Amino acid sequence: MQISSHSILLIDDEIENLKALERTLMAVATVHTAASGKAGLEIIEKTPISLVICDQRMPEMTGIEFFKILQKTHPHIIRIILTGYTDVEDLIEAINEVGLYRYVTKPWNNHELKLMAQRALEHFDSEARNKQLVDELKRVNEGLEKTVQDRTQKLNELAVTDELTQVGNQRYFWAQLKSEIERSERYKHPLSLLLIDIDYFKNYNDEHGHAVGDKALKTIAHILKKNIRSTDFIARYGGEEFAIILTETPPKKALEMAERLRKAIAQKKFSYKIKNKKKKGLTVSIGVAGLSQEKDPKKLVLKTDKALYQAKRKGRNRTVCADLIMQSIKAI
Ligand code: GH3
Ligand code: MG
Ligand code: MG
Repeated sequence: MQISSHSILLIDDEIENLKALERTLMAVATVHTAASGKAGLEIIEKTPISLVICDQRMPEMTGIEFFKILQKTHPHIIRIILTGYTDVEDLIEAINEVGLYRYVTKPWNNHELKLMAQRALEHFDSEARNKQLVDELKRVNEGLEKTVQDRTQKLNELAVTDELTQVGNQRYFWAQLKSEIERSERYKHPLSLLLIDIDYFKNYNDEHGHAVGDKALKTIAHILKKNIRSTDFIARYGGEEFAIILTETPPKKALEMAERLRKAIAQKKFSYKIKNKKKKGLTVSIGVAGLSQEKDPKKLVLKTDKALYQAKRKGRNRTVCADLIMQSIKAI
């Protein structure tokens, strides 16, 4: 019989019994001994024990009482109780309660006890392997869940993001407008909308090519994003048109913000590298409207679009507010 790397703890208040058990089990594993449950618990705190064989009848703490504690503190340690033949009947219930591996009646058979201890240690190993597998599976599973979560989040973001400019897309715009209108109604806050359309962008494309046009769209989106508050929402509403939802903002304030955005774009010198072509800046026209009594997203967009149309008609590179009569501003 080969000695295993496990440690066994024997607990019995009768020294003779302890010695006899030790002699038998030395061939199976490293053996520790204790003369009471209390001394046994001290050993367990310091030494990694795989199997405890404990006598039932002991003066201070019975074997079952000891195992009740062990079951709570070290449930993985295999438990075998040593008991007088006549006590077994009384112990059956308690034996089930503390999850014993086996019970051994006195006097024991050395050979059988050795085999039983060996099986118990094999059982310990297989339980440890199972636990390791389960832990590993749990870890893999958690990893998978995290990956799925990350991907779902990424997909959700993609579904509402405009690929070229990385601002919200139309789907995002309508969803956000709807929920912000509901919120403004709930909290009785004003809300305004801007529609921003690049002036003569077709000409710009024709002159400099589509790729340069794309770059300008990205730059304009970036300028707009940089100049709004974190509580506002920006989306690419159409080809060369952007929408900005200004939360908690009345039309007068929205007009000021729109002007700031318009100027920021007009001041930007769009750079492109095409030989023999004259550099030409880009401007935008902006329509502004505040949310009216109807609280209707489509009506708000229509009202803002009319203001934008006015801005175009009046000569472009300007802002028109639907709510403030003749509030049309042209600068630079
Ligand atoms: P207006 O001042 O009246 O708005 O004139 P405009 O030329 O900007 O307006 P129009 O509606 O006639 O043309 C819009 C142009 O925007 C045409 C199209 O080539 C360009 N455009 C739309 N989407 C994109 C895009 O994704 N990339 C590029 N490079 N150009 C785009
Ligand atoms: Mg347009
Ligand atoms: Mg345009």
